[in-house]
Amino acid sequence: MAVRETAQSPSTDEAELPIPNFIGGEWMRSSTSDALPVHDPGTGQLLGQVPLSTCDDVHAAVAAAKEAFPAWRATPAVDRVQVLFRLKALLDEHRDDLARELSREHGKNVAETSGEIRRGIENVEHACGIPTLMMGETLEDVARGVDCETVRQPLGVFAGITPYNFPVMIPMWFWPYAVATGNTFVLKPSEQDPLTHQRIVELAVEAGLPSGVLNVVHGDATAADAILEHPDVSGVSFVGSSAVARLVYAKAGQTGKRVQALGGAKNHMVVLPDADLDLATDAAISSVFGSAGQRCLANSVLVGVGEAYDRVKVQLLEGANSLRVGYGLNEDTFMGPVISRRHRDRVIDLIDQGEREGADVALDGRGFQVDGYPEGHWVGPTVLEGVEPGMSVGQEEVFGPVLGLARAESVEDAIALMHEVAYGNATSIFTRSGRAAREFRYHAGISMIGVNIGVAAPMACFPFGGSRASFYGDLKAQGKDAIEFFTDKRVVISRW
Ligand code: NAD
Repeated sequence: MAVRETAQSPSTDEAELPIPNFIGGEWMRSSTSDALPVHDPGTGQLLGQVPLSTCDDVHAAVAAAKEAFPAWRATPAVDRVQVLFRLKALLDEHRDDLARELSREHGKNVAETSGEIRRGIENVEHACGIPTLMMGETLEDVARGVDCETVRQPLGVFAGITPYNFPVMIPMWFWPYAVATGNTFVLKPSEQDPLTHQRIVELAVEAGLPSGVLNVVHGDATAADAILEHPDVSGVSFVGSSAVARLVYAKAGQTGKRVQALGGAKNHMVVLPDADLDLATDAAISSVFGSAGQRCLANSVLVGVGEAYDRVKVQLLEGANSLRVGYGLNEDTFMGPVISRRHRDRVIDLIDQGEREGADVALDGRGFQVDGYPEGHWVGPTVLEGVEPGMSVGQEEVFGPVLGLARAESVEDAIALMHEVAYGNATSIFTRSGRAAREFRYHAGISMIGVNIGVAAPMACFPFGGSRASFYGDLKAQGKDAIEFFTDKRVVISRW
C-alpha cells in the first residue's frame, strides 16, 4: 500500500528521500524502497532519488485516473481549458526558475532549458483551443430526412512514457491534449531526470486540475510494462529509443491499445555548393552540439555535396574547436555534459569504434575535462571524417556531441546515402536553389525537413514525429494528430 504524504512535492534538500508519485491528487511514497539516484551531470551532486515504482503503484494511478474520468469528461470543454489557461500563465511566471532547475538536473545550458519550457508552454497554448479543435462534422439529408454527424469523444485513461532528453517538454506533447479532450492521464517520466516535472505538476494543481486527472508514477521498465499491460489504459504515447519504441508498439498492439511510439534518430544535413556556408556552418554547430547532441532532431552526419565539402569542413572544425564547454548554469556555457557516466562511456565507445572502422578523428572530444568539475560527464566536440552508413558511427544513433562528415556528388547521392540508414526522423538541406530544395523535400522520405534550418522542430500546431525506424504508429505528437489520437470519432445517424 502506498503511504499518503503532504500535498507538496519535497524540495531537493530532501535529496536522500525518494521523490513521491502523484496519484489521485496526493503526493504518495511508492510502495517500494528501491530507488535510483538522480545526480547533477556537471557536478555529480545528488539531487534526488527516483522510486522504482511497482505494478501496485501503477494500478493505483490507473484506478485514480479511471475514477476521475466520468466527472472530468462531463466538465464542459470550455471549462476544462480554463485550467490550461491558468497553467500557461503560471508556467510563464515560473519559467526562469524552472529553466535553472532543469539545467541542474539535465546539464544543458539555461538558454536551452528555457527554450524547452517555452516549447512545452506552446503545447498548453495549443490545447487551450480544444473547444474548436474538438468539434465534429454534420451533413443534413444523407438520406431523405436523415442527418449524420460525428462527435469526438474522449476514451478514458491514457498514459505517457517519456525520455530524459526533454523531461519537461515531451510530457507536455501529450498530457495537456489528453486532459483538454476530457481524458485522464498517467505519466511515467524518465527515471534519469524527473525532478523538474514534479514542479510542473504542482503548477497544474495550483491551476485547478482536479484530483486524478493527471497522475505521475516514477520508475523504469517495470512501471512502463504495468502501464502497457493494464486493461483500463486506452492508449499510450511513448518517446524514447527505437529499440524500446518497437517493444512498446508491439505490446500496446497485443493489449489492444492506441499507440504512438516515437523512436531514435540519425539525422543528415546536406550542404550544396550554392549554400550560404556561414549560415550552414552556424546551423550545423548549433544542431550537432547544442544540448551536447542529445536531441532527436540533432543532425549527426553532414553531407557536403561536391566542392561544398572542403569549404564547410574547414569552417566547422574552426567553429567546433572554439565552443565553450562547461557547467550548464554558467552564463558563458554553450555545451554542457551528457546525462550520465554510462552514456558518456557509450558515446566514447562509438567514437573508438568509428576510428577502428576507418573514420579519421579530425577533432577529438574523448578525455575532455572541465576545470573545477572533475565529476562531470564530459565529452568534447568531436568531428569524424569519412563516415559511411556501413560504420556503426554512420548507422547508429550516438546521441552525443559527435559529427560525422561524408561526401556526395549530388543531391541524389546524398539522399541515397541517407536511405542506407534505418532511421527517418529529420533532415536538413542548405541551398539557395528552390528547385533543389523542392526535389529534396519530394524524395527525402523523411518526416521533418529543414530547408536552411538546422533543427527542423515543428511548433505545437504541427505534427511532430518521424518515419521508418524513428516512428511506430500513424498519429504523431502535437498538431491535429493529437486531437485525433486522444478522441474517438463517433458517428450518429438520426431520423426524427
Ligand atoms: P529510453 O528508450 O532508454 O527510455 C525512454 C522511456 O522508456 C523511459 O521512460 C524508460 O524508463 C522507458 N523504458 C525503458 N525500457 C523500457 C522497456 N523495456 N519497456 C517500456 N519502457 C521502457 O530513451 P532515453 O535514453 O530516455 O531517451 C533518448 C532516446 O529518445 C533517443 O533515442 C532519442 O532519439 C529518443 N527521442 C526521440 C524523440 C522523437 O521525437 N522521436 C524525442 C526525444 C527523444
